[in-house]
Amino acid sequence: MLNIVLFGPPGAGKGTQSERLKEKYGLVHISTGDVFRALDPESELGKLAKSYSDQGNLVPDEVTIQILESEVSKHPDAKGVIYDGFPRTTAQAEALDKFLASKNTGVSMMLSLVVPEDELKTRLIARAEVSGRKDDADPAIIQNRIDTYNSQTAPVADFYDGQDKLKEIDGVGSIDAITQRLFEAIDKN
Ligand code: ADP
Repeated sequence: MLNIVLFGPPGAGKGTQSERLKEKYGLVHISTGDVFRALDPESELGKLAKSYSDQGNLVPDEVTIQILESEVSKHPDAKGVIYDGFPRTTAQAEALDKFLASKNTGVSMMLSLVVPEDELKTRLIARAEVSGRKDDADPAIIQNRIDTYNSQTAPVADFYDGQDKLKEIDGVGSIDAITQRLFEAIDKN
């Protein structure tokens, strides 16, 4: 299986690039952010996720890991999966390793989109106009998401680097140029 962790800070372009990778390599795309946003906002789980995501905080690991595993299990015949927005903590990365090992597979590579902080803020503010997402509209919440990324999520790259699976990709430039860089990194593997 081709299991790709597409990594990067909020606004790095993971969602956009996932669509292209999905099409080219015939993969299933799982975005935990999308899964949380699709929950019924009146359900207990929906309310819980929203209480964290609207503030730019991470949803607790136990909940996130369960949701991820149940999403993956919906695609037993997948040729591979793009993990977008997961794992976001080292505990999630360890859980993913265990889960995939139980299915006799594993993470093939982490592709990490590198984008400077100023550029991220500009992109997220622009996205707020179209996304209608509460967490895109407020500069204080954007800052909290970036801070959360730096403190809790960035260490996940070290986790995969320790397994020799980390590939850093320049995430600045045209969408097409970045797609080409990702294709090259995958094809070289
Ligand atoms: P972005 O990458 O633009 O910040 P996402 O759509 O990936 O946004 O995620 C939106 C929100 O959903 C996050 O800020 C967080 O609250 C929650 N979330 C998504 N994935 C995870 C995860 N793996 N662990 C914990 N919380 C998550």
